[in-house]
Amino acid sequence: MLQYLVILLDDTSVAYCHADNPLKERNLMSIETLRKAILFGMKENLMIQYVYPDYELPEEYNEAIESIDHVKIGCDVVVYNNVPTSITADNAVLRLSVADFISKQYDIAAVLPQAKRMNICITDVENFKDEQIDDYKKALATLNAVLLNQYKAGKQPQVNILTDRLQLDKMHNCDAGVNNITVAPNGKFYLCPAFYYDEKIGLNNRLNHHKPISNRSVGDLESGINIPNQQLLKLDHAPLCRICDAYQCKRCIWLNQKLTWDANTPSHQQCVLAHLERNASRDFLKELQTAGFGIENEIKEITYLDPFDVRKEF
Ligand code: SF4
Repeated sequence: MLQYLVILLDDTSVAYCHADNPLKERNLMSIETLRKAILFGMKENLMIQYVYPDYELPEEYNEAIESIDHVKIGCDVVVYNNVPTSITADNAVLRLSVADFISKQYDIAAVLPQAKRMNICITDVENFKDEQIDDYKKALATLNAVLLNQYKAGKQPQVNILTDRLQLDKMHNCDAGVNNITVAPNGKFYLCPAFYYDEKIGLNNRLNHHKPISNRSVGDLESGINIPNQQLLKLDHAPLCRICDAYQCKRCIWLNQKLTWDANTPSHQQCVLAHLERNASRDFLKELQTAGFGIENEIKEITYLDPFDVRKEF
C-alpha cells in the first residue's frame, strides 16, 4: 500500500540514494503541477517528501509546500557527497563510493556522533569486489566501536547500515513502486527518481527499453498511477529476498534492473554488502548485550554472504 509521495521539485534536485542525478539544467516543476501533486498526496493520504534543488524557491512554492505535512530532503535531511568535517543536521545522508567508505572510515567515525541519524548510501555498488570484503568489514567495525561508546555515554545515534537491523524482525526495504512513488517535474510518476533520470538521459540498455525516447513513467497526475505487473516489484515475488534476513537491505529495484536486468533479482554485490552490514549489526548487538543493554533481538550466525550461493541451506 502506498504511504509516501516523493516530489522532485526540480531536475537538479539533490540525489539522495544509490543513483547519481546526471541532470544539470534547472527545470523547476510548475506551480500548477506542484499543487496537483500535493492534492494527489492529500487524497491518497500520503506522507510527502520534497526533494530540493540547491537554490531558493519562489515564495508561492514555499506557501504550497507548507500546506501539507512533509519532509524536506536536501534541507531537513542534509545530503553530502563526501565526508564533511562537521554535520549540522540531525538527519544526514552520506553518499560515498565503496572505496571512499573504506578509506575515510575514521573521518566518518569522527562525525558520526554529530548526527542523530546517518544514512550511508553506497553510490557504486556495481564496483564492489569480493576482494574488498575484509576492508568493508573493518570499516563497519570501526563505526561499531564509535556507536558502542556513544551508547555507553547515554546517546543512541542511528547509522542505517548498522543500527536499523537491531530493531527489525522483518524486511524493511526501499519498496519503490510499492509503498512509495515519485512524481517528477513533468507531472509524471516514476518508481523512483532514478527511473526519471534514466528517461531524461535516454538510457537505452535496460530491459525492453531500447529506444532513447523510452518512457519510464508509470502514470501521471491526470490519469493516476499505472504500474504494469506491480506484483513483480513485491517481496513475495522475490525468491531470494523473501527468504533472506538482511532486513535492513534497501533491495533497490533500480540497481537490480541495472545489474541483473530484473527488478526483483538482486546483484551479488548488493547481497554481499547487505550481509556484511547484517553481520556487523549482529556483532554490535552482541556487544550491546554484553555491556548490559537489554535489547531483545537475535541475529543468527550464518555462513554465507550471498543467499544465491547457498539456496540449499534454506
Ligand atoms: S541481501 Fe540480497 S537477498 Fe537479501 S534482501 Fe538484500 S537483495 Fe534481497
